Amino acid sequence: MFEQLKDVLAKRTVHLKVVVFLGILLLLMFSAGNWFFYGQTRSYLEEELGKKLIAIGTTTALKINPLTLNDEQSKTLVKQFLKDVQWANDLSNISILDTKQQTILEAKDRTEEKGQEIMPLPEETTNAWLAAWGGVNAVSGLYWIGGTYFKSGYVPIRDKNNIPRAILCVEASAKFFNILNLYKRSLILSGLISLAFTILFGLFLYRVMLSTTSAQETVRQAEKLATMGQLSAGLAHEIRNALGIIDGTAEVLKQRYNRPGQPDEMFDYIQAEVKKLKKIASEFLAFLKGIPVKLERGNINPVIDHILLSLKPELDNANIKLTRKFYPLLPLTLFDTGRMEQVFLNLLLNAKEAMPDGGEIIITTNPTIAKTGQKYVQIKVSDNGEGILPQNADKLFEPFFTTKEQGHGLGLSIVARIIEEHQGEITVESKEETGTTFSIFLPIRDKENYENSGS
Ligand code: ADP
Ligand code: MG
Repeated sequence: MFEQLKDVLAKRTVHLKVVVFLGILLLLMFSAGNWFFYGQTRSYLEEELGKKLIAIGTTTALKINPLTLNDEQSKTLVKQFLKDVQWANDLSNISILDTKQQTILEAKDRTEEKGQEIMPLPEETTNAWLAAWGGVNAVSGLYWIGGTYFKSGYVPIRDKNNIPRAILCVEASAKFFNILNLYKRSLILSGLISLAFTILFGLFLYRVMLSTTSAQETVRQAEKLATMGQLSAGLAHEIRNALGIIDGTAEVLKQRYNRPGQPDEMFDYIQAEVKKLKKIASEFLAFLKGIPVKLERGNINPVIDHILLSLKPELDNANIKLTRKFYPLLPLTLFDTGRMEQVFLNLLLNAKEAMPDGGEIIITTNPTIAKTGQKYVQIKVSDNGEGILPQNADKLFEPFFTTKEQGHGLGLSIVARIIEEHQGEITVESKEETGTTFSIFLPIRDKENYENSGS
């Protein structure tokens, strides 16, 4: 049974890992696709722009005679021509460069636009410019000036002998690359967001795995309980056998040494005590075997009162004040009186032990409804004792967990089991040095429902 459960848990862990892996793979594929699309669009647009620049450049260069460029009058004419070309083709500039990459002439009027100094040409353009001197039409890479991308085409201006004398530089702004850049940024952003989501998803799955581990922990605990249960059963069995021998021996002694007419009640004491012990051992064995609870419909208030009455002297001695806040017309619930007495005895003794210098125990009962709509009778046992350390809160109901020198750590595990057999719930709230409250919830329902839902 435990082995099977472990197998299921292990398989579930593997499934979770596969799901996470596939999720990340999908995300990577999606991002890669986007980047590919971005890259393709960018290089296509860049190439088209380059072609356009070269086309404008070659037709323009053909109409310029490089040898007239030193002449002031023809310079003015050429400048006007360049301006026309610039305007017609929506270029950002068109200029003629010399052997030192200096501008001889350009369409732009620098003097009119103040602050627009002639900037050294960006490095990206130098190679294209050099290539043009070699007689080849060339385009620069994209370069970034003042918040916009630019690209320029370089075409040699030749003399009659077909020798390059100057270089025509056709420059256009590539505003659409700004838009493309925006797209790139949103790609990065959406990538980051999906990464964050993946991480959150991973964390969520991690939580799920943790709860799986806590299920494993429960299995471990159940195993421990089972082994310890077997051990205790063996022990209780031995004790019961020994008690049988003691009982028999006492009987023999009684017959041998009792003088007729002068009965010695010492022998009866032995037998009476042995009988009590045998009953406890038998009950313990029955409990370990998990005999079904005998449910009767009733009011839980008098059951608590019965236990309180028998504990009163002990609590008075320990300087502990008892306060009961019972709900007067408490709905009836199904419970096993003997078992529930055991529950309250354990909780009250624990409360007492948590208050070595005295204090107050408050017992409250009231009807309540859970979020699921299930109605319960709630019984709260509160003390203002030493409280429970947060790191111990999970272990309270584990068998043999105790923080007391004289404790055996079985009380709460037995309580939990009894409540479970009633299909109820038990919760604990505790603050260190303020006290502890145990709440028990017993379902309100009729016997048929209870039996149908199985236990
Ligand atoms: P035991 O009483 O033998 O130690 P229990 O199972 O009854 O075993 O309790 C387990 C542990 O839970 C106790 O050792 C104690 O640390 C803690 N505990 C239980 N009830 C209280 C309480 N009312 N206040 C503080 N600690 C408690
Ligand atoms: Mg105890």
